[in-house]
Amino acid sequence: MSNKVLRKLDYWQSILGLSEYRVIVSRVSPLQITHHDEKTGGDFIGVVLDEKSREIWIITTRSLQEEDIVHELLHIREPKMDHGEVVLETESLIFSRNQMHLEFLSLQKER
Ligand SMILES: [Zn+2]
Repeated sequence: MSNKVLRKLDYWQSILGLSEYRVIVSRVSPLQITHHDEKTGGDFIGVVLDEKSREIWIITTRSLQEEDIVHELLHIREPKMDHGEVVLETESLIFSRNQMHLEFLSLQKER
């Protein structure tokens, strides 16, 4: 895992209250994924919580972007949300983080 991904995981785990879990990212080949139509190939990202070992497994065919990290962790944090709700919530979380960041930068300038 790259340092950037580790930092993002750390950040969003703490925002979402999931710091007690160890996140393991497992990179698989698209050929290892079989879709409902029984074709293989194409991007896939999924997440599994192992309560017993306190691990969150993210299975992915490609390198993780920040949106992916927030999205998958949200599925664990809010298991009752469906995929569509998670997409919207991910957008608004990243948006408010960026807003906070911009406000912080403008405060710095005013000084
Ligand atoms: Zn989803």
